[in-house]
Amino acid sequence: MVGAGFAGLSAAVHLAAAGVEVTVLEQQEHIGGKAGNYCWQGYRFDTGPSVLTLPDILHKTFASAGQRLPVKLVPLEQICRYSFASGRVWDVYRDVDKTIAQLSSHDARAYQELLAVAEHMHKISAPTFLYDESPSLGKLLRFGLRYGWKAFPHKNLPQLLDHFGASPELKQFFLRFATYFGADPFRAPAILHNISWAELGMGVYYPIGGISALVRALGDLARELGVEIRTSEPVTQIVHRDGRVDGVSTDRAIYRSDVVISALDIVTTYQLLGVPCRLASREPSLSGFVLLLALRGGAEMVGHHSVSFSPEYETEFREIRQGRFPRDPTLYINVSSKTDLSDAPQGGENWFVMANAPARGDSSDTQQAGDEEAYADHLLTVLERRGFTERKAVAHRKYLGPRSLSRYGHRGSIYGIAPHTLISTIRPSQTIKGLECLFLAGGTVHPGGGMPLAVLSGRHAAAMSLRKLRISSPL
Ligand SMILES: Cc1cc2nc3c(=O)[nH]c(=O)nc-3n(C[C@H](O)[C@H](O)[C@H](O)COP(=O)(O)OP(=O)(O)OC[C@H]3O[C@@H](n4cnc5c(N)ncnc54)[C@H](O)[C@@H]3O)c2cc1C
Repeated sequence: MVGAGFAGLSAAVHLAAAGVEVTVLEQQEHIGGKAGNYCWQGYRFDTGPSVLTLPDILHKTFASAGQRLPVKLVPLEQICRYSFASGRVWDVYRDVDKTIAQLSSHDARAYQELLAVAEHMHKISAPTFLYDESPSLGKLLRFGLRYGWKAFPHKNLPQLLDHFGASPELKQFFLRFATYFGADPFRAPAILHNISWAELGMGVYYPIGGISALVRALGDLARELGVEIRTSEPVTQIVHRDGRVDGVSTDRAIYRSDVVISALDIVTTYQLLGVPCRLASREPSLSGFVLLLALRGGAEMVGHHSVSFSPEYETEFREIRQGRFPRDPTLYINVSSKTDLSDAPQGGENWFVMANAPARGDSSDTQQAGDEEAYADHLLTVLERRGFTERKAVAHRKYLGPRSLSRYGHRGSIYGIAPHTLISTIRPSQTIKGLECLFLAGGTVHPGGGMPLAVLSGRHAAAMSLRKLRISSPL
């Protein structure tokens, strides 16, 4: 197994639970991949994912090993607080009535209709595109014939939202969910509207101890099942001969194996195979710019999850398309100490602030290092200008941009290739044609990015490996 992010750990757990001997090789000195953790003088930050949806996937992962998830998941009553450039503030709750009570009657109707469309899209597509292995051509055709028109194939996302009469602010709100799959919302196909259902319909959870508590729990479970996790050991080559993968090599050793699961960005997998990858030249999905702030005081105007929208949403994505950091970006702010007081010292708050960014990260480019330093400072100015916080309240700050994210994803992209067509929303398959005994997992292959989907991809890769090894399993 290569890579100890959510996907690799999930695959390792499922394989070990079926009695397979598993070794995981991880380049970093810690596990978790994009789901990192950073602490400073009593402040704790998750440095990657923070919005946890579809918790059943995690529960089932632990259940498959006969265990219960040892981390408490708190359902958040207030899902997210949205601030618009007009000055309007809107709280979205689990309780739809409470959410729409703050809307005009026109938008309340549009919200309910759009939520129903998202639910329907999720329900028809999830069994084929999430919970099952990569769909075959036959399955795709059957899905297309039966449900294709319900995916609004002739509309993009903005057109779908216009069709249901969303006001400009409601449209901005629904457009943003496409970024959860790494898409520019203005070029996203309508089917990506289904993503909003996971959060708005099925709810958002906070794992006590943060996302890193989930990483720890998965790592502990894997080790308990006998998995050997070797950190600080980057794989330098995936070894193959005559169309068959039979191991991997690192600077320390060659590991022979009946099956290899590569739970890395798909472009990196091809690089390790030494095989040309046509995906490397395709447009990458969005990257992100993260600013971590240890604040001395608190702020009433943000909740656990908040979004401060840019005044010009289209301009923001045009700048990203041109390879630039947006000047006046939409900011997502996550303050886990609002729910878990132990994440910050008394009176303080741990702010994770994130803007969308172009995937042009190159860790060897020193010019980029300077740009990122300047952008971190710029984001602080934007926060001040919008009245969220003041520089003098910042006790400590740290940032991560596309440059550091390029350790995990091609040029710092978070979700693989950009899903800007109906076909490209179907993520790359978990096998590579012409190469046996290799299975791919992770957020850049089927079924897609985000923690729960990465965990599912690990499960699918484990199921395929078990079939190859002729081991029967309930997966
Ligand atoms: C800033 C940010 C915010 C996000 N927010 C959310 C969110 O709120 N909700 C959500 O669900 N998702 C979110 N995501 C996406 C989510 O984090 C990912 O989709 C998910 O964690 C991907 O897991 P993975 O296992 O596929 O990949 P990764 O986490 O990238 O794991 C791959 C692992 O492989 C290792 N590796 C790479 N190369 C090698 C090599 N040569 N040898 C050995 N090991 C190697 C890496 O070090 C890494 O540990 C966010 C991501 C980022 C970056």
